[in-house]
Amino acid sequence: MTAYSLGPLLYEGKAKRVYATDQPDLVAVEFKDDATAFNAEKRACLAGKGERNCRISALVFEWLEGRGVSTHYLGVEGDRWMLVRPVKVVPIEVVVRNVAAGSLCRQLPIAPGTPLDPPLLDLYYKHDALGDPLLTEARLERLQLVSSGQLQAISELAMAVNRGLRELFGSVDLELVDFKIELGFAADGRLLLADEISPDTCRLWDRRISDQSDRILDKDRFRQDLGGVVEAYGEVLKRVQGVCAQPRVYR
Ligand code: ADP
Ligand code: MG
Repeated sequence: MTAYSLGPLLYEGKAKRVYATDQPDLVAVEFKDDATAFNAEKRACLAGKGERNCRISALVFEWLEGRGVSTHYLGVEGDRWMLVRPVKVVPIEVVVRNVAAGSLCRQLPIAPGTPLDPPLLDLYYKHDALGDPLLTEARLERLQLVSSGQLQAISELAMAVNRGLRELFGSVDLELVDFKIELGFAADGRLLLADEISPDTCRLWDRRISDQSDRILDKDRFRQDLGGVVEAYGEVLKRVQGVCAQPRVYR
């Protein structure tokens, strides 16, 4: 891996900043401590969150790469920086649900905690101003966001990610309730898993705890004002570190 220097800020989102580098095939992602929920109506700064999410995400990407999932991940630098391949992000938030929770239970008569087997795949249009609306196959076709072949590839990748994540988290007594991923196309046309995988984007329940609030180790602690958000993310990191090596350092 070659040394690089940081270029201009390309995009500042709710949880990360994306910078260009002097290399066209490399972008740098900085994980922020900012927390948002309910489409950024609720905001806070949680010291240490960025660091933990960066570490968890790096270890998860490496785990998935080891199981044949292609990702944008190249390595970490320092505590909160990740180097990745630039992709053209598909404006679809891909959600896989193994257990009913969150918006699913508000929108459909399904009780929270109901197992979903086979897992439920939900696609949402990544569009903050519209509140990330649910997509149907007909809406997808109308918007022409992806071809049917690409949609097939996206679904298969999401299910492969689910299998890999359930294996990883399950091995350390974390129940993967659901998660959101973003995918993108690299310069060579390959579909890659992009963005992040962290307690900001996954629901994780501690199987060692039965209390329904105490077992929550993800962003629902922030959404529901349960406190101990950073501590919970730290617990997820500690468990994942127990089965993964240190993330590889870029340069
Ligand atoms: P948002 O507020 O849109 O969720 P984030 O704070 O999560 O933004 O910042 C990350 C942004 O970078 C997202 O818009 C995401 O789609 C985008 N992104 C993630 N991975 C890549 C990548 N490899 N190349 C380019 N953009 C990416
Ligand atoms: Mg995001």
